[in-house]
Amino acid sequence: MNTTKIQRDVVIIGAGMAGLWLHFRLKQLGLQSIIIENQHLGTGQTIASQGIIHGGTKYTLTGKITHAAQTLTDMPQTWRHALQNSDSPILPDLTSARILAPHQFLCSAASLTSKFTAFAAGKVIQSRVTALRKQEWPKFLDHQTFAGNVYQLDEPILDIPSILDAFLQQIPNGEILLVNPQNSFQITSQSHDPQAVIRLQKKDGNTIDIHTPHLIFTAGVGNEQLKTILQDESFQTQRRPLQMTIVRFTQAISKQLKPIYSHFLGSTALPRATITTHYTKHTDQLVLYIGGEIAETGIRRGRAAQIQATRKLLKQILPDYADQPAEWATYHVDRAEPLQPGMLRPDNAVFTEHGNIIAAWPTKMALAPYLANEIASHLKTKKESHPVVEHDPQNILQHWPRPKVASAPWDQEELQWTS
Ligand SMILES: Cc1cc2nc3c(=O)[nH]c(=O)nc-3n(C[C@H](O)[C@H](O)[C@H](O)COP(=O)(O)OP(=O)(O)OC[C@H]3O[C@@H](n4cnc5c(N)ncnc54)[C@H](O)[C@@H]3O)c2cc1C
Repeated sequence: MNTTKIQRDVVIIGAGMAGLWLHFRLKQLGLQSIIIENQHLGTGQTIASQGIIHGGTKYTLTGKITHAAQTLTDMPQTWRHALQNSDSPILPDLTSARILAPHQFLCSAASLTSKFTAFAAGKVIQSRVTALRKQEWPKFLDHQTFAGNVYQLDEPILDIPSILDAFLQQIPNGEILLVNPQNSFQITSQSHDPQAVIRLQKKDGNTIDIHTPHLIFTAGVGNEQLKTILQDESFQTQRRPLQMTIVRFTQAISKQLKPIYSHFLGSTALPRATITTHYTKHTDQLVLYIGGEIAETGIRRGRAAQIQATRKLLKQILPDYADQPAEWATYHVDRAEPLQPGMLRPDNAVFTEHGNIIAAWPTKMALAPYLANEIASHLKTKKESHPVVEHDPQNILQHWPRPKVASAPWDQEELQWTS
């Protein structure tokens, strides 16, 4: 067996939204970074996300400005710049990606409205929330029985597969590597060594050792393997499961329906439903993707019961949509996070350092640029580590296979549809 040794400044494990933003940010700083992916880009949480670039409004509904709300306020602007401005030297060029909607809405039952309105006024989110008069309400509320108040939130909704594709197009060969999920890579170093060593298996039986002072895991649920790698029982993670519901309309009905991008509030701060609209890749059918409280409580229901519960809820909030002939499916996915007291949602993006290894979780896709900046600033404070071996000028990884973009949940063949 022949082993080739090469050096990189950073190796990132996992090409979801966190890994991709981080790779881009580190390259801007002049660092040689490489991403290793063992499935498709965004497999797990990113491809399952609703694509909302939160500005923090949802998190102020509890009546106090949380840390999450404060950090999130700048995110819509950061993403918009990346989506609009291909010339910015400090942002990735996401101009080829699709914005599904420039903002989303919040439809609030009257009981919570007064609290929300009072709170929104004069606080950090004031400029980002517009109370709408009835004649300004979004089209999806036409002919519905909805009574209450409607707000427009300065939070764009993105088409995630096209964002992932825009990132992929900017990453040259040899900087993003697809590895086998069963035998992806081996870490042959200890976390307290000055450099981590990641061993890649080649098809011909030979191996490549990548030496790096910074091995960064942005692997979502894959970060859980660090407990074993670090041999540290105190490294603890949590999964918060969801059962999302997907409603797919026929092509003919799809043309008549207006897209929905909205939180629907009941009597608590957690939206009863958060609904986003997407289109199937090959047949261009309109799909409602339903999260929020109904998806959180959905983990206690079987598939049929979840479809029934969501149908009932949709009938209450948007009867016109619920009454259309459609096919229904559910989709299980876990949010992967560092362990929090009481398994609560972490209040911000998080990264932790363990010798030459960093574990990172954006906790919201919207926070991926913020997390990338935080890690980049942290790395700048570190003492330069001397390369163990040479960076390979011939880029011996340039012919290594590249991953593809994951399929959106509604395009996945395994999904079971019920009329
Ligand atoms: C249903 C749902 C809806 C959401 N909606 C929103 C939303 O609207 N807005 C928002 O801001 N946030 C949302 N989120 C949260 C958001 O999706 C996540 O915080 C974010 O996508 C996490 O990104 P990530 O890159 O850390 O992880 P992931 O997206 O999970 O990506 C991890 C990557 O690592 C790879 N990987 C795993 N193990 C390994 C390994 N051993 N070797 C190599 N590669 C590996 C995976 O294949 C994957 O590509 C939502 C989450 C869910 C579940």
